[in-house]
Amino acid sequence: MEAEDNKQLDIYDPVGELPHVGPKRVEALHSLGIDTIYDLITHFPFRYEDIKVKTLDEIEDSDKVTLKGQVVTAPVVHHYGFKKSRLSFKLAIEDAIISVTFFNQPYLKQKIQLEDEVAIFGKWERARQSLAGMKILGSSNGQDDYAAIYHVNKTIKQQTVLNLIKQAIELYAPVIPEILPQHLLQTYHLMSHREAIRAMHFPKNDEESEQARRQIIYQEFFLYQVRLQLLQLSRKTNNRGIPILYDVDKLKGFIATLPFELTDGQKKVVNEICRDLRKPYEMNRLLQGDVGSGKTIVAVVALMATVLGGYQGAFMVPTEILAEQHYRTLQSLFEYTDVSVALLTGSTKAKDRKELLHRLAEGDLHILIGTHALIQEDVVFADLGLVITDEQHRFGVQQRHKLNEKGNNPNVLYMTATPIPRTLAITTMGEMDVSVLNQMPDGRKPIKTIWNKSDKIENVLEFIRKQMDNGQQAYIITPLIEKSESLDVKNAEDVHQAVTAYYKGKYQIGLLHGRLKSEEKDQIMRRFQNNELQVLVSTTVIEVGLNVPNATVMVIQDADRFGLSQLHQLRGRVGRGDKESYCVLVADPKTDNGKERMRIMVESTDGFYLSQRDLELRGPGDLFGNKQSGLPDFKSGDIVRDAVILDIAHNDAIQITREQDFESNPAYESLREAVEREKEKLKRLQ
Ligand code: ADP
Ligand code: MG
Repeated sequence: MEAEDNKQLDIYDPVGELPHVGPKRVEALHSLGIDTIYDLITHFPFRYEDIKVKTLDEIEDSDKVTLKGQVVTAPVVHHYGFKKSRLSFKLAIEDAIISVTFFNQPYLKQKIQLEDEVAIFGKWERARQSLAGMKILGSSNGQDDYAAIYHVNKTIKQQTVLNLIKQAIELYAPVIPEILPQHLLQTYHLMSHREAIRAMHFPKNDEESEQARRQIIYQEFFLYQVRLQLLQLSRKTNNRGIPILYDVDKLKGFIATLPFELTDGQKKVVNEICRDLRKPYEMNRLLQGDVGSGKTIVAVVALMATVLGGYQGAFMVPTEILAEQHYRTLQSLFEYTDVSVALLTGSTKAKDRKELLHRLAEGDLHILIGTHALIQEDVVFADLGLVITDEQHRFGVQQRHKLNEKGNNPNVLYMTATPIPRTLAITTMGEMDVSVLNQMPDGRKPIKTIWNKSDKIENVLEFIRKQMDNGQQAYIITPLIEKSESLDVKNAEDVHQAVTAYYKGKYQIGLLHGRLKSEEKDQIMRRFQNNELQVLVSTTVIEVGLNVPNATVMVIQDADRFGLSQLHQLRGRVGRGDKESYCVLVADPKTDNGKERMRIMVESTDGFYLSQRDLELRGPGDLFGNKQSGLPDFKSGDIVRDAVILDIAHNDAIQITREQDFESNPAYESLREAVEREKEKLKRLQ
């Protein structure tokens, strides 16, 4: 390589630059997501095999172990069958003699010389005092405790990947950049990135492996967080937004007409939003609030400010039932104002739709509420100033963006159904500002939660009867709509029948599920709202946002099938009035995890706590169902396991990006470069 050494090495060189890596290998590596040298050396093992040399008395049958000893018989190869062979020899370990066999690797014979010291990794078969050899580790072994195991596929072998990584690290170590600023490395006693990369592949011991992981994970989170912070800063300095300069007194006048006084929490959040609206940048804000904390009214005030400022507002919600409900709320709150509101859903009649879209494009319709019908091509606003998405997790990133694009960088407000754990929020929505509503309106009684086994269902039905005798209503939730062959789980149709029979016509029982036509759903909802139905048997279609304050009992069948956040969301359908409310979980959980979740539900009504526990117990997939949700694929970091590191990296990123000379400080040059690179990579992936 001396001859070509004039050429500058660059850590982002394509892998094809390595000796012995031709087009075929390049292709194979690409299939593992490896294109550059840096990709290759950061293709970290997903686990390590314990190759510490063991003694015979510390190993058990079938263990995969490394044994070290002296070769005491010359290796013999025995051929049999088609291309099959067995190589065997004896090894002396202290005062014992064992046999070693390798299958179908006759060429290993050259590597094994009589009287040599060798270390061999293999599977121990105790009965035969024999090691089924898998790998010869050579005689020098004893210094490494672990062997790295990599993700590979059919196109490339474990050993090849390992060799390439070894080679790449040897050649390129001098040009592995130190991305983290010195002061951070020092503060946290992190090893250098170069050292960490080496130790990730070839750790000398547990301690070193752990230190390496700390460096790699911190750096990964930190880079991601810096990118998000820069996004946020650039949004705020670009001044591409729409400043909404409403008349403050008029807005105050409107707030005074609301049927109740805003809580202090609501006032604070309204202020944060309104301050953003007036600014020349586009608002990008997440409103986090617990179920029932009163987010809708905050949205209403923001919409009013927007209309007062001369712009239109859009309010998108995930279901027709919820759209209808918000529509009615807004209609009544805006009744004595000049603000016009319309509803657009999949079931809006063609004629009405046409007229409404016309008014919208002309600008004499101020606020449009609806489902994802709002993002259809022909929905055109004259002057869209504010976009609100309620229960934002129900929409994909694409859908949310589509709505935002109906305006010219409109202000954007996302609202959550239940709180999102902090670690998830700062990764999936870290470029946003966050408002937190963590106070309930006055006069709410805490909901009592009870966990019953399914054989106590009659007690539950009797309890509901007492509530109904007092004029209250109840929900009964089931996981399924109809009977399932494969699942022994309650279904809405059967439960509806059973409950109807149980109350013998004294009370009216409704049935609601996602397969009904939307007119049917609306009709049933309305009858429940008017107390024409006393019990509503439903699947989780009612989960989101529904507001019927007279309902005081929420029964959830097979409750262990749901996540904590979802249960909390369901429970939030009661306790909306001034009467004592109850949530009954009916479940016979079979796993410890399921039992634990039931206990947690009984103990806590704090949505912020529950979502955090949900994340720990069920993982992020459950809170954010799909890839579209924007949860990044971290290579090494895990937002649950490494939550503490994530939090620290987040705070460091905020600090560093707000330093006056962040963009020019030479000490941050490789950091800025690395962030740019991340951006490019993400663009390519999208
Ligand atoms: P969520 O945050 O779950 O969307 P909603 O906006 O549906 O909650 O509000 C829940 C209930 O609380 C509604 O009936 C609403 O009218 C009522 N509410 C909201 N704010 C207040 C308040 N400041 N004082 C009294 N009741 C309120
Ligand atoms: Mg809501």
